[in-house]
Amino acid sequence: MFSYEPIIGLEIHIQLKTKTKMFCACSAHETGAQPNTNVCPICLGQPGVLPVPNEQAIRFGVLMGLALNCSIAERSKFDRKNYFYPDLPKAYQISQFDQPIATNGFLEIEIPNGARKQARIGITRAHLEEDAAKLFHTESGKSCVDFNRGGTPLIEIVTEPDFRSPQEAKIFLTELRLIARYLGVSDADMEKGHLRCDANVSLRRHNEDGTLAGAMFNPKTEIKNINSFRHVERALEYEIERQTRLWEEENPPKISTTRGWNDARQITEEQRSKEEAADYRYFPEPDIPALELSETAEDMKKELPELPAARRSRMQNEFGLKPSDTRQICDDPALADFTEQTFSELLEWVGDTSEVEGLNGLARLVSGWLLSKLMGLLSERGGDIKTMKITPENFAEFITLIATKKLNNTIGLKVLNEMLEAGDDPTHIMEEQRLGQMDDEVELAEVVNRVLSANPVEVARYQAGEEQLLTFLIGMVMKETEGTAEPALTRNMLLVKLKSI
Ligand SMILES: [Zn+2]
Repeated sequence: MFSYEPIIGLEIHIQLKTKTKMFCACSAHETGAQPNTNVCPICLGQPGVLPVPNEQAIRFGVLMGLALNCSIAERSKFDRKNYFYPDLPKAYQISQFDQPIATNGFLEIEIPNGARKQARIGITRAHLEEDAAKLFHTESGKSCVDFNRGGTPLIEIVTEPDFRSPQEAKIFLTELRLIARYLGVSDADMEKGHLRCDANVSLRRHNEDGTLAGAMFNPKTEIKNINSFRHVERALEYEIERQTRLWEEENPPKISTTRGWNDARQITEEQRSKEEAADYRYFPEPDIPALELSETAEDMKKELPELPAARRSRMQNEFGLKPSDTRQICDDPALADFTEQTFSELLEWVGDTSEVEGLNGLARLVSGWLLSKLMGLLSERGGDIKTMKITPENFAEFITLIATKKLNNTIGLKVLNEMLEAGDDPTHIMEEQRLGQMDDEVELAEVVNRVLSANPVEVARYQAGEEQLLTFLIGMVMKETEGTAEPALTRNMLLVKLKSI
């Protein structure tokens, strides 16, 4: 019996968030405007025009290369990639061939439930290019071209075939998207086409003892233009199953092919066979001088912000948050900022940063109230962390009220809701609405006595052995106090009274 190991590589196109297109002054944002209104002679490829590279796009490209631990080319140039297709007005695309801006990098990923827990994915290269136009087909059977998107800047990132499962590919893409967002180079929204992915996959056959049975690399399938994270995983799973079947029938793929993912049918379908680089007849773009990038790379190194992985491990260490919570928090830079500001307010309250015990307890409260309660309330309202009325200062105060038991969970939720509504601080809300934990034992004792005398039947049944009625009596006290009674105190007080009656 043989076993089969998937060998997966990715090619990712990310649309860069520049003001203008790659080689002209047209807007890079109005790609959804009326067709063919966001165009000029340059991006329409009319004769005699001269493309001028977009400096911002080059800087974004260098930044992305640095974030992926690449070497930035001292000298980089643009090339013409020739192919004839209606979405390409010049019949060539300005891209980069043998001197891309960045090469030879890597990205570390963590795979929580994978066969291997961590992997270093090699980055072969990253280069800049312009996007093609968009084709669409009318109901009457005509095909039309919208050039609005034509010429918007893209960075193409090519990985080594270092993934060993579809899950790893998906995790890598998610992390890459987050890096693009942290850098501010792209929204990298896959559903909006800001991030597009081609995945190639082949199988490697092993004997039972783990030795290689056949070649290291076999002809691969390239799956083109996958447009969601789920589709990437699903398409790769399907293709691995399909190729395994072919191998088991002793009829493995003999040439590399290109396939497309048909989501409706949940299958990949064969497309044209893959062109080799020679088919594109690359040659240097004669209208654009080579780029000298050494100085830019030095400048951009200083601008490189803290990246998601570094932020996650720092926040985990500094605040004692759980790894899964930290991941969720750092997936949204605005949420991560809010959390950090909340902790810095809380540290002032705790007083001493060395008081790690206290901080760990607070970390649990912060992540619990933030991730399950506040985010829940926000999504119910369609609000978000950036525009909501709660400041980190007020949220920190709220957490201290919970930590010091001045607020219980039930009333806490009410107060939090009110904070979202009014933007007020929690102490003020509690005073105004007379909310808060009832910790006055005399007052609570009166309520307990009232409840016991109002429910003689339940009290008698409890004393006859139906102990579950304690929960009912606690509930009655809670009702009387509108949830402000401290639950543990209520329970103790009821137990004492029930014994003495
Ligand atoms: Zn233009």
